[in-house]
Amino acid sequence: MKVVVVGAGLGGLTLAHGLRRAGIEVVVYEREGKQGRPQGISLHFDDRGTAALRACLPPPHVAMAEATMGGPRVQRLLLSEADGRLVVERSHPLDGASGPARPGRQVHRPLLRAVLLTGLEDTVRFGAEFTRFEQRPDGTVRSWFADGSTDTADVLVGADGVGSAVRRQYLPHVRVVDTGKRMLMGATPLRAMAGTGLPELIGHSPANVQAHGMMMAMGVLRFSRPPVAASQEWLPALRSRVVTDAEDYMMWALPVTQELLGSAESPAMVWRRAQEVSAGFHPTLRMVVDNAWPNLTVALRAGLIPPMPAWPAAPVTVIGDAIHVAPGFGGNLAMQDAHRLRDELVQASRGQQSLRAAIGAYEDAMRRDSFPAPDVNGGTPRMVPTPGGSGGSGGSNGAGVGT
Ligand SMILES: Cc1cc2nc3c(=O)[nH]c(=O)nc-3n(C[C@H](O)[C@H](O)[C@H](O)COP(=O)(O)OP(=O)(O)OC[C@H]3O[C@@H](n4cnc5c(N)ncnc54)[C@H](O)[C@@H]3O)c2cc1C
Repeated sequence: MKVVVVGAGLGGLTLAHGLRRAGIEVVVYEREGKQGRPQGISLHFDDRGTAALRACLPPPHVAMAEATMGGPRVQRLLLSEADGRLVVERSHPLDGASGPARPGRQVHRPLLRAVLLTGLEDTVRFGAEFTRFEQRPDGTVRSWFADGSTDTADVLVGADGVGSAVRRQYLPHVRVVDTGKRMLMGATPLRAMAGTGLPELIGHSPANVQAHGMMMAMGVLRFSRPPVAASQEWLPALRSRVVTDAEDYMMWALPVTQELLGSAESPAMVWRRAQEVSAGFHPTLRMVVDNAWPNLTVALRAGLIPPMPAWPAAPVTVIGDAIHVAPGFGGNLAMQDAHRLRDELVQASRGQQSLRAAIGAYEDAMRRDSFPAPDVNGGTPRMVPTPGGSGGSGGSNGAGVGT
């Protein structure tokens, strides 16, 4: 069996490791260069991401990733200002019951990506933009790339994010809605906050504070093990500036609208906009933004994919943001998808089920868990006509809202 994966994000790279470890041939095509595009510095990582890591990655990779996560996050704090001081007003358990957030740990996103890329040097083709596919009479799928090259495989997986070109051709009826919401996200070296008491107040917990009609979210990542020491012990093959440059930090996020963001695009412009937005905040909160690394500040878009009816399984499928978007835990869902799809494909490669049954089983589970209120007719998923996929350049009804 050969699998072509489009997109070297969290989902695509996790799947590639899982398939390789099971002896299945896999090639990942990634539009960007090795550095990727800025996606923010932090991720809240929960049991779904951890289970996928453990199932799909080689043990040294798992050890490296887990050694460099932050401490346990079991509650969300709500801070407020009292007599000029920031205090904890309330806390809510992150138990998956009082909201979608589950307990977990904070992860340095660029470091996790570097770990995921390690060992896949001969598997990932960078600078390769997927443009379209064709389902062939012999059951295989041929993919085309912007440079005119092609590749043919038994399965094509779109792990190409919310603007997915694979989804646009395969499931042209799926809509992506731009919510107009944007998240300004940055990170501040923890040493810059020494003496303020804020890191100690928060501990490992995610914290929100209401300030001047706005909300600011924060979290501290103190690496459980320094990344350099962890890589020397677990993954010496991981040679990346991310490892040597990483230090403990405080992540922060400011939800704004596109209107408020305006034309700010470069990291420095987005950082200045964040400073303007936080100008009236408590002095300690302003310090967080003022002392941030400007080049790590990003404005992320929040798109939305409404639930869709089920479709018949075929040798083309989609994982992660390409089919569902969840800003606070979409990375975990993308890795969960990769984990599930890998398990099903391994069974198919061993002759324990057909390829279509494998992909159908993955898609059923993905739709059930990623769209809690699926579009059903009397409890049975409503089938739509066989998706597109016999050549052509594909539709483009997706709004292409990217993060
Ligand atoms: C503000 C914000 C905060 C978030 N916080 C969290 C969090 O705390 N925890 C969490 O789990 N998730 C979080 N998420 C969600 C998370 O970032 C995404 O769900 C996750 O990155 C999705 O991974 P993916 O692999 O599906 O897609 P992506 O990470 O988007 O990767 C897709 C890849 O495909 C490539 N690509 C695209 N088109 C093509 C093409 N035509 N050809 C080749 N390659 C292509 C892209 O370059 C990219 O590398 C957050 C999102 C936002 C917006």
